[in-house]
Amino acid sequence: MPIMSNAPEHERRAMVVEDDVDIRELIVFSLESQGFLVTEVGDGREAVDRARADDPDLITLDLGLPGLDGVEVCRRIREFSDCYLMMVTARDEEVDRLIGLETGADDFLAKPFSPRELKARVNAMFRRPRRPVEPVGGPAGANDHEVLAHGVLSVDVEGRRVRVAGGELELTRTEFDLLAELMRTPARVWSREALLRSVWGDEWTTDTHLVEVHIGNLRRKLASASGGSRLIHTVRGVGYRMESLS
Ligand code: CA
Repeated sequence: MPIMSNAPEHERRAMVVEDDVDIRELIVFSLESQGFLVTEVGDGREAVDRARADDPDLITLDLGLPGLDGVEVCRRIREFSDCYLMMVTARDEEVDRLIGLETGADDFLAKPFSPRELKARVNAMFRRPRRPVEPVGGPAGANDHEVLAHGVLSVDVEGRRVRVAGGELELTRTEFDLLAELMRTPARVWSREALLRSVWGDEWTTDTHLVEVHIGNLRRKLASASGGSRLIHTVRGVGYRMESLS
């Protein structure tokens, strides 16, 4: 039997990747005050190794890093981790930020930022909706796993697993959350703003580009897993819904 202690059962772990010591200390302080156990790294190559060894729940990742730049660090970490990944960018790194999101970062934070904004954004990530679907036309079955199905796609919401035509598909947390939201109401047309509010929270994030980039990533993965099927439909000028089944 494990020995009881004051430590929470699952302490959330974060890794802060930043070469600027002042900014790094600000982020570390902020995350520690939110109850994270924090690891600090100042170099891109070390960041990849430590992420693999420590398996943190959250990584904040500076773009301009010695050793290996943030975009490449992000790409490599995404090969083995689906942790929440927050990219931290300077104003002149707009293009890199977009590439970073395409590479699988969940959100970004632009410098300069306040500790309050950082806290709010991190809280929003960990508060993501995990609500069950309302049963349609009767009580829920005995199965404790809610599984959404749409054509060749099936999504186990609690288990956070996606299958396409029987094969398992690896998604980042953000891609998963977007897909689950679309599949809960497959006929609904979601505006970018509505998806942004629902998945990222509306306290600080207003950049609907986040939605476009992540939907783009999700589509590519779905298409490649389903042999080219287009499963998410764009409603021009409005937003997205699941492709109709015909
Ligand atoms: Ca830097």
